Amino acid sequence: MTATFRFAPSPNGRLHLGHALSALLNQDMARALGGKVLLRIEDIDTARCTPELVTAMLEDLDWIGFAAEPPHRRQSEHFADYDAALTRLKSMGLVYDAFLTRTEIRQAVALREASGTPWPRDPDGAPLYPGDAALLTADQIEARRRGGEPFAVRLDMSRAVQMAGPSLRWQETGCGPAGETGEVPADPAAWGDVILARKDTPTSYHLSVVIDDALQGVSHVVRGQDLFHATAVHRLLQTLLQLPVPVYHHHRLIADADGRKLSKSAGDTGLADLRAAGWTAADVRARIGLGKSSA
Ligand code: GLU
Repeated sequence: MTATFRFAPSPNGRLHLGHALSALLNQDMARALGGKVLLRIEDIDTARCTPELVTAMLEDLDWIGFAAEPPHRRQSEHFADYDAALTRLKSMGLVYDAFLTRTEIRQAVALREASGTPWPRDPDGAPLYPGDAALLTADQIEARRRGGEPFAVRLDMSRAVQMAGPSLRWQETGCGPAGETGEVPADPAAWGDVILARKDTPTSYHLSVVIDDALQGVSHVVRGQDLFHATAVHRLLQTLLQLPVPVYHHHRLIADADGRKLSKSAGDTGLADLRAAGWTAADVRARIGLGKSSA
């Protein structure tokens, strides 16, 4: 089987040096294994991911010497695939319609924390979803449904974990933020009832990434350490949907001069700005700690 890698950026801003590391590391690792690298455009947020940003992204990638094997998969063209997976999880009784608004959640968290009890938070620091039944009566939920209020679709995490069994793991060839490597145990419950379809989008990052990695035959997922803990959710969904499991490699993140994580608005590390300032693709490779290209 050909080793298959993918770089999967979300074109909701310009690419920076962190993206360059991800893209080029995928390409270098694919070459080292005699494999291929694909490009997946993660544009499920159709409001923020504009055609102009996609075009600019392709130019930036071309400039740094990233050449993915066509075709490029655009997630916004495959909502039906994600919907089919959601329907399957629904038929397994593992999802529910979630009506709580952000304000309601924020208020519940503030109230509880004001009384001195910390609200549980996910690995990214966001409060776990309380579950509609925690804040609304069955009648109130029904009234919202009848009133046509928008809802998200969430995974019933405790049921899902129960169905998948206790020993979820993945093979990590890079490392997590605390140096986790090798055979890593997955703890999806730390994320609570994750969103599988948003109020404004018929899918979510977690669902579409897992479906696409399977449909594209991805054998190696190479991405930033900021997504290390999300892998637990991906392993859970793969198990529930009986999908193949790639090997994972989470790489270090590139920091700016002040040691902060790069953001899409950080102009000084944006690839387009570096190019305009006279940098070459070789300068980019050197700055992100990659050796000379083998191509
Ligand atoms: N689209 C995600 C991002 O830009 C990356 C997804 C992945 O590599 O799994 O952060």
